[in-house]
Amino acid sequence: MTTVLAIANQKGGVAKTTTVASLGAALAERGQRVLLVDLDPQACLTFSLGVDPEDLELSVHQVLTQGLAPAEAVITTEDGVDLLPATIELARAEAELLTRTGREHVLKSALEDLAEADGPDHAYDWVLLDCPPSLGVLTVAALTAAQGVLVPLQCETLSHRGVGQLLDTVHDVRRFTNRRLEVWGVLPTLFDGRTNHARTVLETISSTYELEVVEPPIPKTIKFAEAPAAGRSILSTQRTGKGAQAYREVAGNLVARAQRPRR
Ligand code: ADP
Ligand code: MG
Repeated sequence: MTTVLAIANQKGGVAKTTTVASLGAALAERGQRVLLVDLDPQACLTFSLGVDPEDLELSVHQVLTQGLAPAEAVITTEDGVDLLPATIELARAEAELLTRTGREHVLKSALEDLAEADGPDHAYDWVLLDCPPSLGVLTVAALTAAQGVLVPLQCETLSHRGVGQLLDTVHDVRRFTNRRLEVWGVLPTLFDGRTNHARTVLETISSTYELEVVEPPIPKTIKFAEAPAAGRSILSTQRTGKGAQAYREVAGNLVARAQRPRR
């Protein structure tokens, strides 16, 4: 059984991409088969896994807009995960898809094609979707393809404003394109445990919106800034760092959650 999880928050800089790369590596360490999908035209995920988007001829853009078989664009990375990469071309996808029938479903059907082509013995256990910082067509397509959505959240005073909008979008997706979508919760990122403020903000948000908090919080550490430059995730560059450990624990909790019976 493949679990497709969208990592979404329309705010930039909340560690969506870092979370996708780190959880991907952590799940792979546990022996899970993992595919990461870069849905951000900035292609930061692609870059951070050591792939230069400028060298790519095929990417998620052709998969979404030209019906390219996803297997043609998937590449394996040194982090032990597969990647469906993005290039700057993806910036055009939003406009190209806007007039297409079924645009919300393009990613979902591409992933279904991929599963069919791979066969049941080679199916991915996890597909993690790195969403762009907007609530446009690409994010809606990701939410339509996913069973769950995880919301990385930097716990500062105004973070709750975005959460309401994101949950409105989730609500619409549930009504119109994906009834089974579940909110897996918020993941506190860039967390500064030394202040009470971060805890208070987190508690307020989780109680206001009745959201689960996925544990443990990911501590803010300087090490994260160095990993993408190395073309590897934090799990390889800082094997025993606090941030890497936190992501490993979150990955363990996600695996347990995926095994829970579905509503
Ligand atoms: P998003 O994808 O939401 O825009 P990124 O994952 O690109 O966010 O992260 C934004 C910036 O924050 C990056 O420079 C990244 O290296 C840094 N960062 C992410 N997580 C941490 C952390 N736990 N501690 C310190 N810096 C972090
Ligand atoms: Mg990003």
